[in-house]
Amino acid sequence: MALITVGTMAFDAIETPFGKIDKIVGGSATYVAYAACNFVTPIQQISIVGYDFPQEEMDEMKSRGIQLDGVEIVPDKKSFFWSGKYHIDMNTRDTLVTDLNVLADFNPVVPESFQGAEFLMLGNLMPKLQMSVIDQLRVRPKLIVMDTMNFWMDIAMDDLKAVLKKIDVLLVNDGEARQLSGELSLVKAAREILKMGPKYLIIKKGEHGALLFHENHVFFAPALPLEEVFDPTGAGDTFAGGFIGHLAKTKDISFDNMKTAIIIGSAMASFCVEKFGPERLKEITKEDIDTRLSEFVQLVNFDIDLV
Ligand code: AMP
Repeated sequence: MALITVGTMAFDAIETPFGKIDKIVGGSATYVAYAACNFVTPIQQISIVGYDFPQEEMDEMKSRGIQLDGVEIVPDKKSFFWSGKYHIDMNTRDTLVTDLNVLADFNPVVPESFQGAEFLMLGNLMPKLQMSVIDQLRVRPKLIVMDTMNFWMDIAMDDLKAVLKKIDVLLVNDGEARQLSGELSLVKAAREILKMGPKYLIIKKGEHGALLFHENHVFFAPALPLEEVFDPTGAGDTFAGGFIGHLAKTKDISFDNMKTAIIIGSAMASFCVEKFGPERLKEITKEDIDTRLSEFVQLVNFDIDLV
């Protein structure tokens, strides 16, 4: 059961109220892959890096069942670079720098060995490139999940809307849902976005959990109340990796199984925020994931007598 992941592999500079780091590996596809490989392999990664991306990171990925045949290495250019600064609430951030570098000339090529994958995770990337990957797949995957962000809504809204028509599940945060739909109420925003193509919509609300919308149904998954959130970077991508990883593992794309999948996504995201970059994701074991999932069950489990 192969899962194709598409997105950035990057260097990030991050500043939070608790610390600062000038250069750490990041990128949407990096986080998605590190999260999803706990549930399903192979992960078939499509991305681009420059001469500066560490070989040790690639070796680490390969050792976890992440195939990098679809990762282009450009010998004379730098990797994508992003820098962000978090506000005191850690839920909102300002992007300080987005240096496209290698991304500016990226033309993703789906390797022949990736054809036939049943699951496709379009991580945050230029919408035109997300579309190009969909177009290259000779057999449509069973499920296409897409993540995006305000940056692309600002500069490539038409391209983004074209991709929306081709996908099954869209993941955005609350601000992006409002920007995409022009509606302030998230319920109205969801209704509008579901008219644009996706059959399912997940609205991520940071420390306030996530909402899953489908037709007239809504499901809510909380985020685990953590004593310390150290660095939220990549939490959204990690959520996406856990979500699609579980669906690919179970091969079940029903609404009920998506409810489980967003709890798993939330559990994975709760690890991601505990350290800078993807560091924590590389430490955790299956036992750690199980323990955290039990904490989620405890968090929302209650008995009630109807009046
Ligand atoms: P998240 O915190 O889940 O939104 O993801 C943060 C990651 O997304 C960082 O590691 C960045 O390298 C990457 N990123 C930031 N901006 C973009 C962008 N415009 N396109 C693709 N990836 C991005």
